[in-house]
Amino acid sequence: MAQEFDVIIIGSGPAGYVAAIRCAQLGLKTACVEKGPLGGTCLNVGCIPSKALLHSSELYYSMNHHFAEHGVKVEKASFDFDQMMKRKNNVVTGFNQGIAALFKKNKVTHLEGFGQLRSPTTVLVGETTYETKNIILATGSEPISLPFLPIDEKRIVSSTGALSLEQVPKKMLVVGAGVIGVELGSVYSRLGSEVSFVEFLPKICPTMDETISKTFQKILEKQGLTFHLSSKVIKAETSPEEITLTVEKEGKTSQMGANVVLCSIGRRPYTENLGLENLDLKLTDKGFIPINGRFQTQIPNIYAIGDIVDGPMLAHKASEEGVAVAELIAKEHPTIEYMAIPNVVYTDPEVAAVGLTEEEAKALGRPIKTGSFPFKTNSRANCTGQEEGLVKVIADEKTDILLGIHIVGTHASELIAEAVLAIEKKTTTLELANTCHAHPTLSESIKEAALAALGRAIHR
Ligand SMILES: Cc1cc2nc3c(=O)[nH]c(=O)nc-3n(C[C@H](O)[C@H](O)[C@H](O)COP(=O)(O)OP(=O)(O)OC[C@H]3O[C@@H](n4cnc5c(N)ncnc54)[C@H](O)[C@@H]3O)c2cc1C
Repeated sequence: MAQEFDVIIIGSGPAGYVAAIRCAQLGLKTACVEKGPLGGTCLNVGCIPSKALLHSSELYYSMNHHFAEHGVKVEKASFDFDQMMKRKNNVVTGFNQGIAALFKKNKVTHLEGFGQLRSPTTVLVGETTYETKNIILATGSEPISLPFLPIDEKRIVSSTGALSLEQVPKKMLVVGAGVIGVELGSVYSRLGSEVSFVEFLPKICPTMDETISKTFQKILEKQGLTFHLSSKVIKAETSPEEITLTVEKEGKTSQMGANVVLCSIGRRPYTENLGLENLDLKLTDKGFIPINGRFQTQIPNIYAIGDIVDGPMLAHKASEEGVAVAELIAKEHPTIEYMAIPNVVYTDPEVAAVGLTEEEAKALGRPIKTGSFPFKTNSRANCTGQEEGLVKVIADEKTDILLGIHIVGTHASELIAEAVLAIEKKTTTLELANTCHAHPTLSESIKEAALAALGRAIHR
């Protein structure tokens, strides 16, 4: 007789493994099916390895570019690329084991293999069939490629290959100046590659607030990154030495060569061979699994969360949905405030944002006010020598309620937590400005930006 569960989750990324643990905590008999290593894209070929390499490369870059101004003398620093990659792999493996331990502790059954839907209550894993009352689909996403630029993960790479190159390329071309491209381009630029971007749209990280995107671009250009905006790659030719891309801009074409091309033009939902057709489950025109406000697909006991459903493709959004869906199945009443999901770019400086951009707020026809404060007048930023960037707040003109907070600057990824709380709790700029912030801290810039929106910044 087939083994029976209350919930079977397909996929163990930040959506799936978090959903599995929360289901088990709520007393549901839970299994999680995974065809690869535990942790999904985020842990194995996404958030974690990229942040490990960003940090290692930043240490090296700082030694050669920033230590001297602090009076710290180092003979020209060099790096061991193999050791950088080894450390990155060790960080990943440690967390793989961590998730396995969490599954064991919470009594989640880990079913190794490819999961396929056979009926609304049956999942096939390898050659074994399992019965279940509920199914959560959390199969994630995969990189999009261009038909004329076939990924070999050696010289023409997706983010996955870029995280495991064997050597630092002399020249790297990045197709797509979104978050992933800019982060991985930064890694190799710091290690000595000549890195250029070809971006179809007229700005980098296109969903960013305009002011922030422009400031960010200027800072990255000072670090040596080159951006070709409003430009489209239309052809690729490969020789043993180089890959040559033909790029079209304003009707004119030019050629650019590189040793490695990173294609980072976005990701699409991954539902291959999941057996959706067995249940007549349809996809949206962009390949997402349609769901209602309770994460239910067209079949009520089959749920979908994370990158396979419409919304920002972010690990923390996926995990929030993992918790929420588990609680819904257990008949609780969770809520997710989608307006308060932060976005972060982990370059140096970092960029972090929550809520609406100025352009989005204006497009909604809302009367708004804005306030900004540059880090160059923040005392802590001056002490550490990391004065680039600014904080910008956007608020409703009439109610004073904060609509968006945007930061480009050092430690923005940590600073954004306060902004997330402010947006989630529908705080006003006055409440934020009246909150005491420790001195000297970078966070005082958030207070000052709120004060600026009220026309009363102290240090400007
Ligand atoms: C280079 C890079 C950097 C990133 N950095 C960040 C970041 O800093 N912060 C952030 O928030 N997000 C980041 N992301 C995005 C983040 O990784 C994704 O949003 C997140 O992993 C989505 O989680 P998920 O659980 O929905 O899917 P995934 O993490 O993709 O997990 C899906 C899992 O399902 C498994 N699976 C699929 N089909 C089946 C099947 N039929 N049977 C069994 N198993 C199956 C897959 O093997 C995979 O393990 C990054 C992504 C990349 C590529």
